[in-house]
Amino acid sequence: MANRRFCVGGNWKMNGDQKSIAEICKVLSDAALDANTEVVIGCPAIYLMYARNLLPCNIGVAGQNAYKVAKGAFTGEISPAMLKDIGAEWVILGHSERRAIFKETDELIAEKAEHALAEGLKIIACIGETLEEREAGKTNDVVARQMCAYAKKIRDWTNVVVAYEPVWAIGTGKTATPEQAQEVHAYLRKWLEENVSKEVSASLRIQYGGSVTGANAKELAKKPDIDGFLVGGASLKPEFVDIINARK
Ligand code: PGA
Repeated sequence: MANRRFCVGGNWKMNGDQKSIAEICKVLSDAALDANTEVVIGCPAIYLMYARNLLPCNIGVAGQNAYKVAKGAFTGEISPAMLKDIGAEWVILGHSERRAIFKETDELIAEKAEHALAEGLKIIACIGETLEEREAGKTNDVVARQMCAYAKKIRDWTNVVVAYEPVWAIGTGKTATPEQAQEVHAYLRKWLEENVSKEVSASLRIQYGGSVTGANAKELAKKPDIDGFLVGGASLKPEFVDIINARK
C-alpha cells in the first residue's frame, strides 16, 4: 500500500450546539485514536473556536467553507485568514451541498481553493457525481471536469486532500460499494498522473465520502486508493471513533 497517511474528516454540516459539541469533543478526546490517522473536524463557523479549545491539538479543525478573498464587504462570509486566526488549519471546499444548494461553480470553488492555499490553510477539495450523471455513464467525465477546475488554480498539491463524494451516497444511507469507490479513486489517480504529475498522483490523499459508518468503514479502508473518509452523519456520533480507527 502506498505511503499516504490515512486522513478522516468529520463534516458536522449545520448541526450541533454547545452542549452536543462538548459531548462529541469529549468522546474524541477520551478515545484511543489510531495515531497513524490524521483527524480533521469540519465544524460550523460559529463554533470553530469553541471546538478548537475543546479538542486535543492532534485533531485539526476545518471551516466548512471560506470566501476567495481575505477581507472586505462580503456580508455573511468568512475568510481563510479568519479561520487561521482562530486556530483552524483546514477548510472544506466544494462540498456538493455548496454546489447544489448555494450554486457554487467549479470556477468559484477553484478560486476559493487557490486563495485558501495561498493563505496557508490545508484544504479538503470535494468532488462527485449525481445519480443522474452516474446512470448516464458520466461519472468519470464529471469528476475529471471538477478536478480540471482545481488543477487550473492549484500549483502545489502538498496541502490538498481530495474527497470523492458521490452525491447519491451523501446522507442517503446508500454507500458506494468498496469496488465502486475504488474504481473512481483509481481513475482519479490516473487522471492526476496524466494531467498533473506522477508524484502528485502517488502522494495525494483521496478520501471517500457518502454514508460512511462504523460498520462499513473497515471494508472501504482496505481498498488501495482510498486514503480516508469524509464523514457527515456518523461524525456526530461515537461511532466516528470506529471510522477513525478503520485501519487499526
Ligand atoms: P454523510 O455525509 O456521511 O452523512 O453521507 C458525507 C458528507 O456530506 O460529507
